[in-house]
Amino acid sequence: MTESKTIAIAGGGIGGLSAALALGIHDIPTHVYEQAEAFKEAGAGIGLGPNAMRVLNRWGLGQELREVGCAPDYLLARNARDARILGRLPMGQAFIEKYGASYLTIHRSDLHTILQQAVKKQSKTQFYLKHRLESVNLLAEGLDLKFKDSLEQHQAQVLVGADGLNSLVRSSIFSTDKPRSSGHCAYRALITLRDLPKGVDQDFIGIWMGSRLHVVHYPVRGGNYLNLVVLIESHEQQAQAGWDLVPSADKINADLKFALQACCNELQELIRRVEDWRCWCLFDRDPLQHASQMAQGRVALLGDAAHPMLPYLAQGAGMAIEDAACLAQHWQQSTLPAAQRLLNYANARWQRVSRVQQRARRNGSIYHAQGVMRMARDAALKLGGSQLMDMPWLYAG
Ligand SMILES: Cc1cc2nc3c(=O)[nH]c(=O)nc-3n(C[C@H](O)[C@H](O)[C@H](O)COP(=O)(O)OP(=O)(O)OC[C@H]3O[C@@H](n4cnc5c(N)ncnc54)[C@H](O)[C@@H]3O)c2cc1C
Repeated sequence: MTESKTIAIAGGGIGGLSAALALGIHDIPTHVYEQAEAFKEAGAGIGLGPNAMRVLNRWGLGQELREVGCAPDYLLARNARDARILGRLPMGQAFIEKYGASYLTIHRSDLHTILQQAVKKQSKTQFYLKHRLESVNLLAEGLDLKFKDSLEQHQAQVLVGADGLNSLVRSSIFSTDKPRSSGHCAYRALITLRDLPKGVDQDFIGIWMGSRLHVVHYPVRGGNYLNLVVLIESHEQQAQAGWDLVPSADKINADLKFALQACCNELQELIRRVEDWRCWCLFDRDPLQHASQMAQGRVALLGDAAHPMLPYLAQGAGMAIEDAACLAQHWQQSTLPAAQRLLNYANARWQRVSRVQQRARRNGSIYHAQGVMRMARDAALKLGGSQLMDMPWLYAG
């Protein structure tokens, strides 16, 4: 049995590793329990807003991240049907000047590897792979943790649930409600630079807004790949969140190609370059309504375990990184009881993440608008342009 003064973190994703790193910076030791046999990140690209990048820069990871990521010069919004330009938001240097950091696009596994190496370098964290947390028992002075197919019993002073959308920590301590299926699917692919159609350069984020769909692409891996994501409203029943390893040709034809048939040639041409699609069914939860949804007694939630959101603001990982920094900051107040420190963390976080969850849902309906709403959206973007696309409340917050 391990000693009971540790902070246990369930989950070694971007959120769990960020928490271990942030606490380690303050010399606070942690135990990270990850169900997988090895650390890995599914999926492809991810966008990190300047809000998340400022935190990562403070943790000393900026240089390494920029070496494997890309800092696009601008965001270009276009109409998916006729390729009309709807708006352009300067990013690059403009974001550095305005928000103190660039917007970075990066392969998720590159981000995960850099976080992992940074945590290992600190030597403050003990990793337990193949440890799927199965039950949590609250004791007078701490917690008892049990794991699947194991007789081991670990004790901890507090537990941080960073165990994702279907969090066991959440369902054991907070609430057993299920995540909400949005009915939307994300099809994603990586296209190598040499396979790109002429004229698609690699220094911007492209977003194409259609009816009941949108498409996003941006460079990753130093600009050697284009990360392409097509987000559609599927007409198939979605049972489970997660990567559908390889969608069948029938599913691609019925779902993806059907949705894209009214799109412009430029977009069709890009789509034709894809060899392998992966598909993800999108789930979220209702926006948080109070701090007790993020911390109760000696247990706190972080990242998707606390506030899963639709990816339409590209902030799920960003919010997990901000959570981690905030948790470490409040945990340092060592004169306060443990439960109070966790509650202070939750109080500091829940309103901001709730707003991001709400805005992510709202963005989904704007990006996928139909009929008159679509025309109003396009006209507003044409008029408001960069002002409508920028989000100082989020990026500067
Ligand atoms: C299509 C798509 C695009 C996205 N794009 C962006 C973007 O551009 N920018 C952005 O910021 N975010 C984006 N996101 C959101 C982002 O991916 C997530 O918010 C982020 O990965 C959440 O990290 P997490 O560590 O909280 O959870 P997860 O990544 O789910 O990690 C949870 C970890 O816990 C482990 N685990 C689960 N249960 C247990 C258990 N019982 N015991 C032990 N371990 C357990 C899992 O194996 C996993 O390693 C996107 C999401 C999707 C679906």
